[in-house]
Amino acid sequence: MYETNYHRASSVDDAAALFKKGSDSKFLAGGHTLLPVMKQRLAQPSDLIDVAKIPGMSGVSASGDTLVIKAATTYYDIMSSKDTAKAIPALVHLTSILGDPAVRYRGTIGGSIANNDPAADYPAALLALDATVKTNKRSIKADDFFKGLFSTALADGELITEVSFPIPAKAAYEKMRHPASRFALTGVFVAKTKSGDVRVAATGASQKGVMRVPDIEKALKANWSAGAIDGVKISPKGMMEDIHGTSAYRANLVKVLAQRAVTAAG
Ligand SMILES: Cc1cc2nc3c(=O)[nH]c(=O)nc-3n(C[C@H](O)[C@H](O)[C@H](O)COP(=O)(O)OP(=O)(O)OC[C@H]3O[C@@H](n4cnc5c(N)ncnc54)[C@H](O)[C@@H]3O)c2cc1C
Repeated sequence: MYETNYHRASSVDDAAALFKKGSDSKFLAGGHTLLPVMKQRLAQPSDLIDVAKIPGMSGVSASGDTLVIKAATTYYDIMSSKDTAKAIPALVHLTSILGDPAVRYRGTIGGSIANNDPAADYPAALLALDATVKTNKRSIKADDFFKGLFSTALADGELITEVSFPIPAKAAYEKMRHPASRFALTGVFVAKTKSGDVRVAATGASQKGVMRVPDIEKALKANWSAGAIDGVKISPKGMMEDIHGTSAYRANLVKVLAQRAVTAAG
C-alpha cells in the first residue's frame, strides 16, 4: 500500500472541504472496495476522507410512501432495520445474500453505488425501484445516475448523502451468485409501483453495466405473472461473457431470474 493521509470527517461540509484540500482525495466508507484496490497498488489517493462516522450519514427511515437510506448505512443495518423489512422486504433479501458477513458489517450503500461494479446488487435495486440519489450538491434519478461500468454521474468530490426509494406495491430480487465472491453472476430486480407501472433492472448482464429490461417490463405491465415472460426473448448481443458464463447464458438468466423474482414478489 502507498502512503496516504487519513482524515475523519465530522460533517458533510467538512468532508467536502477536506476532499478539496488533498491533491488526489478519495472518500472512504466501508473500505471493502477501496482498501483492496489500494493494497494492490491500483489506486494511490493522497488523502482518504472517512465519511463512515459523520453524524446523520447513517440510518434507515420510512415516512409516507418513501424509504430513505443514508449513504453510510452498512448492509447489516439496512437488513436489520424494521423500516426496510416493512417498506421494501426485497431489500432485506438482496442485502442478506450480498457478499459475506464481513462485507455486510462494513460495506455501505453509498460505497456500492458510487463504485457501480457491473455485478453489484444495489444498482439493480435503485434502477428498478426508481430511486433518487441525493448528494451534497443535488438529487439524481437512478436512471441518470448509473453511466456504465464503474461510472456514475458523480462529479469529483461530490458526496452521496442518502438514497430515497418510493415504496413499491410489489418487489423482489433474484440472483445467480458467484460461488466465491457472492457477487451477481446475473441478478434481476422487479418492481411494481403502487400506480401499476413496472420496472425491471438486471445487473451482471450487460457490457454497459446495470440496465433496465424494457421487453420484460412491457410483458409484466400487461400481466404480472412469471408466465407473461415465457415468450420474451432476451438477445445475447451486448451481454457480458467470461469464464463464468457466455453471453447467451446470461441472456437466459435475465429471463429466468425475472420469472423467479415475479413469483417471489407474489
Ligand atoms: C469479498 C467481497 C464480496 C463482495 N460481494 C458482493 C456482492 O455479492 N454484491 C455486491 O453488490 N457487492 C459485493 N462486494 C462489494 C461490496 O458491496 C463493496 O465493496 C462495498 O459495498 C463498497 O462499499 P464501501 O462502503 O466498502 O465503499 P468503499 O470501499 O469505502 O468505497 C468505494 C468507492 O465509493 C466511494 N464512496 C464511498 N462512499 C461514498 C459516498 N457516500 N459518496 C461518494 N462516494 C463514495 C469511494 O471513494 C470509493 O471510490 C463484495 C466485496 C468483497 C470484498
